Amino acid sequence: MKPIDESGINHLFHHILSTLYHIQPADQWSVIPKNWCLTTAKTKYGMADHQGIIHINQNFVATGFWDLLEAVLRHEFAHLCVGLSQSHNRRFKQCEKLFKGYFNADARRQATAYGSRIHYNYRLMAELVDGQCLEIKKTHRKHHKYTNYPHQNRVTYFYQQQRIKRFYYVSEK
Ligand SMILES: [Zn+2]
Repeated sequence: MKPIDESGINHLFHHILSTLYHIQPADQWSVIPKNWCLTTAKTKYGMADHQGIIHINQNFVATGFWDLLEAVLRHEFAHLCVGLSQSHNRRFKQCEKLFKGYFNADARRQATAYGSRIHYNYRLMAELVDGQCLEIKKTHRKHHKYTNYPHQNRVTYFYQQQRIKRFYYVSEK
């Protein structure tokens, strides 16, 4: 199969959208999908904005993850249809189902392969009050919320009922 490129994304975008307009006429959408673009932002797969632009993660380019890309586009179209303020609530889930925006078996397999291709810069670690350390997630950059954590007393995080004493980052490079 042909690797994903810009003309392939463009074709898929318009093809899916035209089939969705048969299910849900354009005048019933909260935001009319206008276009798409590639992004290097931290969003894992993609996101839709208020202008009706669907941002597709650059990581899709040159891969063969067509099923995953299709599910992501359908998911983002569902966001635009119900309105971005609905987030992932019940109304959204119904529309996502109608638009087939969920991951089928192929998309799930591709999501695993996609995830292993992403290079992360850091691992976010947490130290619990008993001294135990555990990995919370892999991340591209350091977040203020965690680097500032011990100094702000407003929020306390827990892991299985144990208070987290501090967060720290381990470089993956
Ligand atoms: Zn979403």
